[in-house]
Amino acid sequence: MRIEAKIAALLGAALMCVPAVAIAQQTTIRAGALIDGRGGIQRNVVIGIEGNRIASIGSGNARANYDFSNFTVLPGLIDAHVHIGAHFGRNGRASTPGETPAEEALYGVENAYMMLMAGFTTVQSIGAASDVPLRDAIARGKIPGPRLLTAVSPVNNPSMTVAQIKDHVRKAVADSADVIKLFASKSIREGGGQTLSDEQVLAGCSEAKNLGKRVWVHAHAASAVRAATVAGCTTVTHGSQITDSEAELMADHGTFFEPQTGLLLQNYLENKSRFLGEGNFNEAGFKFMEEGIALNDSMFKMAIRHKTLKINMGTDAVAGAHGQNAREIVYRVQKGGQAPMDAIMSATSINADAIGLKDRIGALAPGMEADLIAVEGDPLADISALLRVVFVMKGGKVYRNIAPGQ
Ligand SMILES: [Zn+2]
Repeated sequence: MRIEAKIAALLGAALMCVPAVAIAQQTTIRAGALIDGRGGIQRNVVIGIEGNRIASIGSGNARANYDFSNFTVLPGLIDAHVHIGAHFGRNGRASTPGETPAEEALYGVENAYMMLMAGFTTVQSIGAASDVPLRDAIARGKIPGPRLLTAVSPVNNPSMTVAQIKDHVRKAVADSADVIKLFASKSIREGGGQTLSDEQVLAGCSEAKNLGKRVWVHAHAASAVRAATVAGCTTVTHGSQITDSEAELMADHGTFFEPQTGLLLQNYLENKSRFLGEGNFNEAGFKFMEEGIALNDSMFKMAIRHKTLKINMGTDAVAGAHGQNAREIVYRVQKGGQAPMDAIMSATSINADAIGLKDRIGALAPGMEADLIAVEGDPLADISALLRVVFVMKGGKVYRNIAPGQ
């Protein structure tokens, strides 16, 4: 090869490298409407994605890789309270006798897949030891599922001493828990009365905080909610028996409140024959749950009147509910009277804050992880649009795209 030809070849190779270095590979998504998760809305914008991050959001007429001009784009949804391993077994019932660990694990994978397809790119499981290998498997990036956090092993035995509760919390953290769960009251099927003493609740919450962990406290009775709040827990979940004064107390302490109104009890009633006869799932328990729906409705209407109360979104999804998580958001608007934007923020930026990931997820803005979904319709006009998810991206990777015309 002559020297001129060599130089030309080298120059050509160098020039070919330039675009790859100067302009990182970008995926672009055009959104007819973009709800940013923090209360903002933009029309006809292009989102630029580089790797697993959002690089830019702006205007532009260039052809995008994905054209969602006729759709609404939102941050990937977050459910801060699921039980990802819960499922109906081979006999169709909530108990799963004779099931092998491999079968159990695969049901967890199924639930993860269904939630991701429904637009939930992050969920927090409250929580079982079997969540840990599932969390880590999803994080390896091959199994399609939401980013998963877990409580591993809840504190639920009122006969534990303060020292034993602290040990339990330390053990859960050593077992790689992302969050600590305390049961401070009975199940709603048993009336919801306080179980752990104020002192026990304080022990669990303060030990978790000392270890840098967030705390979710199951509490129905007003007294249990008060104990959890003054103990400095992160989130009170359920709260079915609270009054204005507990709502105010939580607001004053900056405690997140995670009520369930639209999926949990409805799912139990829809699947009554599968649950009936297991533990406290007896006729008396079902009566508590039937009556609980109306009580939760009025409690929720009261709670949203407290404008500084941080209401987040956790469905408490059990067997049968995974993949239907958005029903809670829809119900809060349609039956609870919450403003659609507030309900969306509960499942995006407010939830990201509650689970300690507000700098990474829960909003669409440059620098945030590219977790986003597209839905058919305008959820601000008709919140049930959240049930029509046509596109799901998590960490810059597309997991679902059934948008017509794409
Ligand atoms: Zn739960």
